[in-house]
Amino acid sequence: MTKISLEELVSFLKEQGFVFQGSEIYGGLANAWDYGPLGTLLKRNVKDLWWNKFVQNNKLNVGLDSAILMNKDVWQASGHLSNFADPLIDCKHCRSRYRADKLIEEATNGSVNADGFTDEELVNYIKEHNICCPKCGQNDFTNIRRFNLMFKTFQGVVEDSLSEIYLRPETAQGIFINFKNVLRTSRKKLPFGIGQIGKSFRNEITPGNFIFRTREFEQMELEFFTKPGTEMEWFNYWRQFCMDFLVSIGVDKDALRFRDHEKEELSFYSNATTDIEFLFPWGFGELWGIASRTDYDLKQHMKYSKVNLEYLDPETNQKYIPYVVEPSVGVERMMLAILFSAYNKEELEKDSRVVLKLHPALAPYKAVILPLIKKNHAAKAQEIYDALSQKYSINYDDAGNIGKRYRRNDAIGTPYAITIDDDTLNNGTVTLRDRDTMTQKVIKVEDIEKYIDEIIKL
Ligand code: ATP
Repeated sequence: MTKISLEELVSFLKEQGFVFQGSEIYGGLANAWDYGPLGTLLKRNVKDLWWNKFVQNNKLNVGLDSAILMNKDVWQASGHLSNFADPLIDCKHCRSRYRADKLIEEATNGSVNADGFTDEELVNYIKEHNICCPKCGQNDFTNIRRFNLMFKTFQGVVEDSLSEIYLRPETAQGIFINFKNVLRTSRKKLPFGIGQIGKSFRNEITPGNFIFRTREFEQMELEFFTKPGTEMEWFNYWRQFCMDFLVSIGVDKDALRFRDHEKEELSFYSNATTDIEFLFPWGFGELWGIASRTDYDLKQHMKYSKVNLEYLDPETNQKYIPYVVEPSVGVERMMLAILFSAYNKEELEKDSRVVLKLHPALAPYKAVILPLIKKNHAAKAQEIYDALSQKYSINYDDAGNIGKRYRRNDAIGTPYAITIDDDTLNNGTVTLRDRDTMTQKVIKVEDIEKYIDEIIKL
């Protein structure tokens, strides 16, 4: 179980400067969030770690940064124009609007997954199980209408239908349409992957649960191209890889589970899909989707673009369309799981403290520099700060007594507090305090980097 409610976490993160309500001074914009100084650092660290593990440290994979705006035909080919729609249902009584599958999931505390239900199955389930409107308590709903989640906008100066364009609802299609370019220029052989991090936009019917479901979010996606027939091996590989990654960066492993999709729930083009779910305060929710997508996407783009996207296997001289395994995760959802896992309130002998036990690689600041007495130690502290901040994100705190400064930095997850005092001036030593154990040791100034490097390794 998480150690803090969602409401408490939201107010804690606002107070500390992680996440603010979007457009706050204008009364806000529903479900839009801005990332403050600490949230920005955490977000960058999440993306860097993903990039390192999925692209930089893997010689099979390369990176890409494709455009958010794409030719409309991309969405025709991918099926998003016709199929990327959620089942919308309204309460006739109080006019509240719901996503029908989520209404069922919430009413059954997640024990029924209605993702793959047809509209008829959804309506029947709601009727037969007497699922009521969470707001007014009535069971009196409209029929289901399908609502396309893509944001539509206009390109060019005249608002006519010729210039209609969509904001991408996933980064994946940018990868598929560049498959040929990447294959040619990187001279990769199968199997290989293309990774990408970027913004996606979905006009969600019911965004909510803070940054869990928003209309603007970032995705980290890998499209891994394989020889047909070997995709299950790679599917299992990436499925476990993603789980191991989450555990290695400090997501609570007892709150994680695999949820393999049943046959009936699978998208028509997928031959295996698993969600890695995290136990949020409102129940298990999808954190990471891992899907074996067969050759569907490349085949569709080949059909619509008329460009040959086949791969010529140098070993067998055969031509075929590669199969694809896709691990896809949202940056913000991952952050939320990380924050729920890291938050701790500890009772100490005399008082209590809030401590974010973030993996040091994720911590916004790797250390905080604390001059014990401002007028005596600030110059030396500044010198040490200047040197360390060339390499790491470092905090500097000279306000209030040392105990208060420790607490402030525990609460934002800073792994080390480094106190600069007379011994620093006279002997070149500092006191290094560990966030989690609160133990202190005296070390040489020139050894600080060694200590930080040791803990930020994954
Ligand atoms: P859901 O069923 O929750 O709407 P999905 O199955 O449509 O999600 P995918 O299309 O598989 O989600 O997206 C891959 C990942 O992108 C998700 O696992 C999630 O981490 C993230 N994601 C998707 N939609 C959102 C959103 N609206 N806000 C934040 N993150 C999202």
